Amino acid sequence: MFGSCSSNDSKSKPMILILLGPPGAGKGTQAAQLQEKLQIPHLSTGELLRDHVKRHTSLGIQAKAFMDNGKLVPDPLILDMLFERVSQKDCAKGYILDGFPRTLPQAEAFQARLKPCTHPFVINLALSDDLIIERLTKRVVCEGCGATYHLLYSPSKQEGLCDRCHSKLTQRSDDTVEVITKRLHVYHEQTAPLITFYNEKKMLHSVDCTRSKEMIFADIVELLQTARRL
Ligand SMILES: [Zn+2]
Repeated sequence: MFGSCSSNDSKSKPMILILLGPPGAGKGTQAAQLQEKLQIPHLSTGELLRDHVKRHTSLGIQAKAFMDNGKLVPDPLILDMLFERVSQKDCAKGYILDGFPRTLPQAEAFQARLKPCTHPFVINLALSDDLIIERLTKRVVCEGCGATYHLLYSPSKQEGLCDRCHSKLTQRSDDTVEVITKRLHVYHEQTAPLITFYNEKKMLHSVDCTRSKEMIFADIVELLQTARRL
């Protein structure tokens, strides 16, 4: 079906950028920078959901009923919220998604609801489990201002104290090898089929995330330029 789509006018089509990647690969950091560079909004389905619930919209009320029963909000409801959001004016040039889609059914449902010939640009932030564990288990957070440091890559000047506000630095209770290993297991189980799905559609672009965030960003920009999307 993609064969019938003309690729000459890719620049005029909205840019739908999807960031995939394990916890700790830096999705949030890259999304924030891309939002600035591309001048398109960075959307979070978690935020959309909280906003709908808060505003008591029809979708929010439906979603809350599931949440109150301890159930996951079904994908079609999340997709309704997302497509309502992207129909707004500020998304006309495109938008960035991070953390969605997370599963193969979500990716399939999302693709099915996009306009024909709409090809998301999917970036896979690739990082090995060993490196993720090293990054996350050596991360410390300031109790005062929330600044984060890494004991190996970006330590504070004074051990155990924040450079900015001199409060104590502590490790988050869920930054342990056991918790992270479990999260990675869930991630691989859910996301591996997603990577195959987008790869088969030739929408997937992988970036090596073992390097600095500046180098990762430069790689993403180059990928976009090569694809004539920038
Ligand atoms: Zn601080």
